Parts: sequence; C-alpha cells; structure tokens
Amino acid sequence: MRDKEIIFRPDRGKEKITFTPEKCIQVQFQYGSDIMMALDMCTHPGDPIDVQRRSVELTVRWGERCKAEFEKLIRQTKPEKRPLLFGIVQGGADPELRMECGRRLEEIGFDGYGFGGWPLDADGSFRADILKMAADAMPDHKIKYAMGLGKPEEIVQCVQMGYNLFDCVIPTREARHQRLYVFSENGATREGVRSGGKFYRFYYAMDDKNARDARPVDESCDCELCKNHSRAYLHHLFRVNDPQAMHLATAHNLRFFGRLMQLLQEK
Ligand SMILES: [Zn+2]
Repeated sequence: MRDKEIIFRPDRGKEKITFTPEKCIQVQFQYGSDIMMALDMCTHPGDPIDVQRRSVELTVRWGERCKAEFEKLIRQTKPEKRPLLFGIVQGGADPELRMECGRRLEEIGFDGYGFGGWPLDADGSFRADILKMAADAMPDHKIKYAMGLGKPEEIVQCVQMGYNLFDCVIPTREARHQRLYVFSENGATREGVRSGGKFYRFYYAMDDKNARDARPVDESCDCELCKNHSRAYLHHLFRVNDPQAMHLATAHNLRFFGRLMQLLQEK
C-alpha cells in the first residue's frame, strides 16, 4: 500500500497489479456500474490509531482523485445514464476520525456514502457502535450504504441508524446451502421486525420431515418457490442435485430480504 496506489501481487508471484484511484474508476465505467465506489483503504476496528489516521487520509485523497476521474468520464456519458459515485467513510472505532472522514468526503461531494472497514470485532461480534458512528458522519440527505451487511437483525439495526442500501452474500449463499429464511409467526409485520425479538427462523430444506410435506416453505411468502411448489418438491430437487433447487431457494431468500426491507420502510 503506497500513498499513490495499491499494488497487488496475486499468489505472491512476480505478477504485479497496480490499482490507482483513476484506474479504479475507469474499470467501473467499463463494467457499466450504476453505483461506483471510490478507492479506499480498509481497516479493522482493532488496528492502531495511526493506521486509522492513514486510512482516513488516503481514503479522502483517493476519493478526490476518483471524483476528478469520474467527472472527466461522465462527460462522455449520456445524462440519463449517469452513474452514481459513492465515497467510503473510514475511521475505525474512533468517532472523531469517522466524523472527519465524512465531513471531508462531503466537501468533495459524492452521491452517497458507504460504511468502510470491517464491521466485526476480533471475536466476530457485530460492532453496531461503529456502524452508528459512520452513519452519523454521513449527511442525512444522501444515500447511506452499509457495505457488506448483513444478517436480518443487523439490517434492522442499520435501518434504524439511517442506512438505506445493503449488499451481502448471505441470502444467496445460504440458499445454495439449503438454508432458507422464514418469518416466525407474527414476525412479518411492521412491529414484528422492530420488536428486537427473533422475527425469523431458519428452514432447512433437507430435514427429513420435509420430504412428504405438501405445504409451501412459507405460507405468507409470494416468491416463485412458495407460490408454486411444496416443501417436498424442494426436498426432492435438492436430493437429486437439480440446479433448479438452488434457483428456487435463492429466489425465496431474496424475497425474504425484500419483504424485510419493505416492512422496515413502513411508516
Ligand atoms: Zn418464498
């Protein structure tokens, strides 16, 4: 990690990939990204304060260079196809550094802001306090993006802090591993998801008891799986390794997270 760029050596071999803020924006234009992220230096909450300071300094400086490159490249883009550019708020577990990072990034001016850094501490516990610090450092009229989160209960907390955009492998990865999310009784309500209690449970597609069960996985769900197929059918598809099993389980988990977001948006 240098002040001007990041150099990767995949497999510690001779091959060298240099990543500059400018290149990072150029490749995102090539991908056709609709939301682009500025280059940042990611830290762990346990990293020492001088590392956190350097991360904020580099993230702001790189953010400025990303913004300049973005401005240059959008001149060649049709206005209706204009992508968004987000900055990333670093600062570890230090509230002042988080505030400083948020303020300096907003001076440069981004369309939204992402939570930067690792959201778990050394024992793997979710650091809600750090998520909150970063949300507070982002202007309220812009999109707040909780990058890489999270479990349903973490999403509930993050929405309460002001985050409104998420991305995570959990719904699709769990579906491929035959684990489906279903709302508990009274869980799928505005109050249920906010209660602080367990509003959902796991449904294991391969449990023996599902092999002859004609009911849908979740009677309250309107996804492709629950509307058209039984628990027994999903069990069968997984048993014979039909890729349709993963497709249907994925559609269901994505719909669960979509319904969760709708419930959290209900006034
Ligand atoms: Zn469903």
